[in-house]
Amino acid sequence: MTAVGELLDLVGLSTEQVDATQETGFALRVPRPYIARMRRGDPYDPLLRQVLPTVQESQSVAGYGVDPLRESAAVVDSGLLHKYAGRVLLIAAGTCAVNCRYCFRRHFPYAEHRQGSDFPALEGVRRDATIKEVILSGGDPLMLRDAHFATLVRRIADIDHVRRIRVHTRLPVVIPQRVTAALIDVLASLPQQVVIVLHFNHGNEIDADCVRALTALGRFTLLNQSVLLRGVNDDADVLVELSERLFAAGVLPYYLHMPDAVAGTAHFDVSEAEAKALHRRMAARLPGYLTPKLVRETPGLAAKELLASSGI
Ligand SMILES: *Cc1c(COP(=O)(O)O)cnc(C)c1O
Ligand code: SF4
Repeated sequence: MTAVGELLDLVGLSTEQVDATQETGFALRVPRPYIARMRRGDPYDPLLRQVLPTVQESQSVAGYGVDPLRESAAVVDSGLLHKYAGRVLLIAAGTCAVNCRYCFRRHFPYAEHRQGSDFPALEGVRRDATIKEVILSGGDPLMLRDAHFATLVRRIADIDHVRRIRVHTRLPVVIPQRVTAALIDVLASLPQQVVIVLHFNHGNEIDADCVRALTALGRFTLLNQSVLLRGVNDDADVLVELSERLFAAGVLPYYLHMPDAVAGTAHFDVSEAEAKALHRRMAARLPGYLTPKLVRETPGLAAKELLASSGI
C-alpha cells in the first residue's frame, strides 16, 4: 500500500482529519496485515501515526539533520558499520516492508551499500577476529528472499570467530506471515546462537498472527526494541501494556530508544525529562526484567548512552 488516499479510505478517515500528504520524499509504505490492526475512524490511532506521512515532516527544525548518528563515519566497508566493540552491523537489505515515519535511516544512502550476491562486506568480518557478533540490519534483512538470506547467514556462520548472529527486523511485526517454516529451519541450522531483535512500539501491534509467529521463533532469544514516540507510546499505561504483551508472546523488552534528531521527525520528539519520568512510572509497575533500558544514541560513545535502567 503506497497511496495515502487508499490507506485513509481503508481506515475511514479524510485527509483533513489527519494532515496527511503524499509529498514528503519518503514514500508511504505499509502492508495490509498491519493496516488491519488499526482502529477505524481514529485519527490518533498509534499504528496509523507510525506510518502516515503528514505535513509536519516538511518542517525544517534546527538541530535535526540527515545523519544525526554520524553513521557514515562508522562505515568500514560498503554495507558494514563498526561502531561498537565486538559487533558489527551489516546492512543486509536496502528496503523495509514498512516505512516508519520516525526512521533514523530515512535518509540513509542504501544504494551505496547494496550487497551483491557474494556479500563483499563479509570480507571485513573475516579479517577482524575481534568481531564476535554480526548484526543483520537494514533496511530489513527479512526482505531478502529465503534462499538469499540462507546464503548470507551460512557465509557468516562459516566465519570461525563469529559466535552470535543477530537479526534486527520489523517484518514479524508488520507481516507475521513472513516467519515461514523455511526461515526458521535456516536459523535453527546455524551452529551459532541466534538473537532476534524485534521492533514493536505499541501493544496494539501484537495480534494473534504476531503471537503465532513469535511462538514459532521461540527457540531463539527474542528481544524487543521500541522507539519512544510522541502521540504513539508516550504514556506509561501503553508502555506497561506493551511489555506485558511482549512477554506473554515470549519476548523480553530490551531497549526503549529516545528518538534521534532526524530531519522530518521532530514532531515525534519526547524530552529527556519526560522520557525519564515515563520510565520511572514503568519501573514502578513492572518486574525489572520487563522494564527496557532507556537509551539514546550519542555519536562518539562506546555503546548506547544509558539514561535509565530497570530501577527507580
Ligand atoms: C545499536 C547498534 C549496535 C548494537 O548495539 P547493542 O547495544 O549491542 O544492541 C551495533 N552497531 C551499531 C552501528 C548500532 O547502531
Ligand atoms: S522498519 Fe526500521 S529501518 Fe525500516 S523504516 Fe521502520 S524503523 Fe526504519
